[in-house]
Parts: sequence; C-alpha cells; structure tokens
Amino acid sequence: MSKSAILWNVGDKWTVEDVQLTEPRAGEVLVKIAASGLCHSDDHYATGDQPAALPVVGGHEGAGVVEAVGPGVTRVKPGDHVVLVFNVPCGDCGYCNTGHQNLCIYNPPKADPLPPAFSARGQAVPAIAELGTFGEYTVVTEARCIKIAEDIPLASAALLGCAVITGWGAATYLGEVKPGETVVVIGSGGVGVNSLQGARSAGADIIVAVDPVEYKREQAVRFGATHTAASVEEASALIAEITKGAMADVAILSVGVGDGSVLQDTTRLTKPGGRTVITSVTPAASDTVKLNLFEFALSEKTLRGNVYGGTNVYRDVPLLLGLYQRGKLELDGLITTTYALDDINQGYADMHAGKNLRGVLVFD
Ligand SMILES: [Zn+2]
Ligand SMILES: [Zn+2]
Repeated sequence: MSKSAILWNVGDKWTVEDVQLTEPRAGEVLVKIAASGLCHSDDHYATGDQPAALPVVGGHEGAGVVEAVGPGVTRVKPGDHVVLVFNVPCGDCGYCNTGHQNLCIYNPPKADPLPPAFSARGQAVPAIAELGTFGEYTVVTEARCIKIAEDIPLASAALLGCAVITGWGAATYLGEVKPGETVVVIGSGGVGVNSLQGARSAGADIIVAVDPVEYKREQAVRFGATHTAASVEEASALIAEITKGAMADVAILSVGVGDGSVLQDTTRLTKPGGRTVITSVTPAASDTVKLNLFEFALSEKTLRGNVYGGTNVYRDVPLLLGLYQRGKLELDGLITTTYALDDINQGYADMHAGKNLRGVLVFD
C-alpha cells in the first residue's frame, strides 16, 4: 500500500489516495520517491490540453532510491539513487542510430507492454509517462532509471527528468546556440530558465529573458539572463537597440501554454537566418498560427519543435550533473517551494499564480 495522486477526469483536482503496486516484474524496479517536480505538463492532462486516457497516476519528473529490483535487472540495485526519465532510447532504431535518441519515443514499442503497475479503487491505473512520480513509490522499467551520486540532493536531481533537460537542450541542441550569439527566451518558468542556462552554457553573449512576472524576471538573471523584458514588444525594442537592428540569432518560446497567434511576433525577434524553437505545449485541438510566410521564407528563418531538448538521457543526465557539481549549472535554485503530497493542488495553484519556478513534492 502506498499513496499517489491520481487524476480521474478532465477538470478534476488531483486526488491523493491509497494505491496498490505490483511487485517489480522482470526488468522492473521499485523506487521510493524522494521528490517530484510539479511540471506544467501534468496540468495539461487536468485541463484537457493534452488528451489522455484517464485515470492516470501523475508525475514524470522524479528522483528517489531503489528499494527492490525484479528478475534480470542489471542497471541498478537496491540502495542506488536514481533520476527517473521518460524518454528512453531503444538503441536499435533509425533515430537512435543517427543521434536522435529523443525521437525514439515515437517508434512502436518492441514488445507487448506490461499491465500498469498501479491500481486504485479496484481498477488498473496507468502512470503518466510510465513513471507516476506523484506518490510514495513507483514501479518502472530499469531503462527509466539513471543512477546518480548519493551526495546530489534528490529534489534537485529530480528536475533533470523534464524541466532542465527540455529547457537546456532547447538552447544548446535544438537552438544550436553558438558563442557570442544573441538569444531571447520567452517565459521564465521552470523550463524557460533552463534555456537561459543552456544559452549561457553554449557561450551566448546577450541573453534576454521575457516574462510579465517581476519575480521571474529577477530570477532569470541568476540563470543567465543578461537583460530582461516584461513583454515581447519590450523585448523587440530592447534587442533592436542592443543589436543595432540586427535582432537575435535564436528565439525560444517557453511560456506555460502555447498560442499560435504569437508565432509571428516570436520569429520576428530573430534576424534573417535566425532560429526559433517552440518548447511550449499548445492545446492539442489548436491548429491555427499567425505567421507571414512571405516574410518567413524570404528571410530563411528556421522553426523547430522540441522533444526532450534533443537530448540523449544516458549522455546528458550525467553531463548536466557534472556541470552542477562544478558550479556551472544551477539546480537547487530552481526549487521555489516544496509541498507535501497532500498539498499537490496548492502547488499547482501556485504555479498558475506565477509564484514558482518549480514547485516540488517532497517525501519523507
Ligand atoms: Zn514535464
Ligand atoms: Zn530507438
């Protein structure tokens, strides 16, 4: 018996309740969760912006300690500290063999998936991203566990599982930021500030953070912003002034909920040949954008989506933890507020109120 937060219907709050978990089956691992980030993506299930079969056990950004392993597990052993990841390369497919491991998730699963490890109220309940980190325990496949050093705080490490890797990779791998470039990141939430960090890692010269919330603009500076603006219009004027009209090399859209109507203004922040990365999740039913294609084509601009920051978790989680350990990547400061599992809905209310870079559930 364990407690987890479950979403039963679109529009519901998360309910914290008793769940049953299977023993770890072949290739699976029982993890005692230490911390789980309150990512905006889970909220997209609650609002219906991300369609999904419900109910689900929430949470896809967690870290914890391995409690038990099933038959055949070789990657981890009981007592190991692990970051959980949802985007796991198979190693065999075309994407994995051409350096695009993050896209492997779109390949058909190789074998019949096991039934969900969780059940509640007498029925099986799938876990978001096959992780279900909003709870005291989870059972996941060993491939989703990345062992980390025991002196790394688990609450900080948890954020690598989604926010850090998605945001950092948006600048480094997908935006392909180069030394000396000008980068603008729209949205300074838990993901956006990691794009600021990514731009800094890549050697950007000017890094402009755009957010209407003053607290987030203040925080953005610690994560690498050299300038801040409260709106895209303000950023446009600022970047034009700094670059003497040239505009930015890279724009990254990382607001909480995407909106196609802002695409034109976002791409106009970039110079001819500039790159725009769309990190924001836009409601799945929305299919209109505003974009002057005449202007876009004749300025040779690039527009790119974002799946897990273009990263390979087995390379990049250790890489990012190395940067953290050497003081080159901020993780601890991402955690604005910690919550007990029972207070999960307060955590999401605070996220919507713009109070948190990241709210994090912590467990004893
Ligand atoms: Zn997430
Ligand atoms: Zn693959």
